[in-house]
Amino acid sequence: AREEEIAENGTANEFALALRSAQLNPFLRVLVTGGAGFLGSHLCRRLLAAGHEVICLDNFFTSQKLNIVDLMDHPNFEFVRHDVTVPFFAEVDRIFNLACPASPVHYQYNPIKTAKISFCGALNMLGLAKRVRARILQASTSEVYGDAQQTPQTEQYWGNVNPIGVRACYDEGKRVAETLFLDYHRQHSVQIRVARIFNTYGPSMHPYDGRVVSNFIMQALANDDITIYGSGTQTRSFCFVDDLVDGLLRLMDSDMITPVNLGNPNEFTILELAQLIIKLAGSKSRIINKPLPQDDPKQRKPDITVAMRALDWQPRTQLEEGLRATIEYFRHLDMRKFKKPTE
Ligand code: NAD
Ligand code: UDP
Ligand code: UDP
Repeated sequence: AREEEIAENGTANEFALALRSAQLNPFLRVLVTGGAGFLGSHLCRRLLAAGHEVICLDNFFTSQKLNIVDLMDHPNFEFVRHDVTVPFFAEVDRIFNLACPASPVHYQYNPIKTAKISFCGALNMLGLAKRVRARILQASTSEVYGDAQQTPQTEQYWGNVNPIGVRACYDEGKRVAETLFLDYHRQHSVQIRVARIFNTYGPSMHPYDGRVVSNFIMQALANDDITIYGSGTQTRSFCFVDDLVDGLLRLMDSDMITPVNLGNPNEFTILELAQLIIKLAGSKSRIINKPLPQDDPKQRKPDITVAMRALDWQPRTQLEEGLRATIEYFRHLDMRKFKKPTE
């Protein structure tokens, strides 16, 4: 309106100036699906701090208002309660598609819904991106590599996924979502970005999501037995949430169309993780062993050469430092505010 006013009444110079400042305006309208979740709520905060307008879309399937309650009054923040499997219409510049239950306990609670969210959620968001010409980033996962036969995992590796196992609803869901992303790019020139996220932890994780970091910290703080599934020799590489969100933002701003691994390449056995958490929490917990779940990947470690080169990104937070922050978060959590996925 200001530009129209200047165009009608002002000088050509003033108009050119206003137009230039509009074009240079770095502030964007960003849609974050799954924005109330663990990664999503951190991402919303970072986007707001950078001056962007954020539309946070979530149905609280695996999260709660607590994660974003402090953002509700922010003038640039808008919350929409919506299920991504249902078409959604808005005018936005960027989309981060994070909506999906992410931990094995959460995604196996209703596996058909998990597959549906992975496919239909991606389809709807790609349809939206195509219509409004928005750039869209998909939160994919290291699970696309399945029980990897190659370590560390590079983006070229096609993976080793059991298509009919209990993890398939998530693994295959995320794989077909990647397929949709690449096809929307090839067929409709949609500007896509695909982040293959490796195990990430930090404050705002759901205490009952059943993931190894949240389980072990909850058990350690209560001096309960620490439950290692299998022998504890399986490995994971844990990335602190702040580092990961930084990677997502850099990837969105990059020109990488093909998938990019984002994770911390420092690899630990699950036994090492248990011992470290017991030490840092000052816990009296004992370690016990429980059966290993079906198709549990034996080793996982990202090769982040592509991210280092194309995004000038690498994680900065060491496991011990990140765990200390996460333990402090859990220590002060009011457990009455959380429900288990079966409740
Ligand atoms: P999370 O469960 O905390 O967040 C997911 C969010 O999506 C929740 O707020 C949930 O309520 C919402 N959601 C679920 N189904 C929805 C639906 N149908 N409609 C709208 N919202 C819905 O998990 P997270 O760890 O923050 O994961 C975020 C994304 O990152 C997921 O797509 C996940 O697959 C991916 N990812 C996470 C990790 C990790 O280690 N945290 C690793 C790899 C990939
Ligand atoms: N869609 C959406 N929001 C939009 C545009 C599309 O949710 O702003 C949905 C649309 O309902 C469809 C999906 O995205 O289910 C794919 O849309 P596209 O236009 O690519 O395909 P088509 O509608 O032709 O199947
Ligand atoms: N795990 C474990 N005890 C737990 C929870 C998980 O030993 O209480 C193991 C699990 O079997 C897997 C690893 O820790 O080998 C990571 O599990 P998580 O569910 O966090 O993530 P994912 O398997 O998806 O990497």
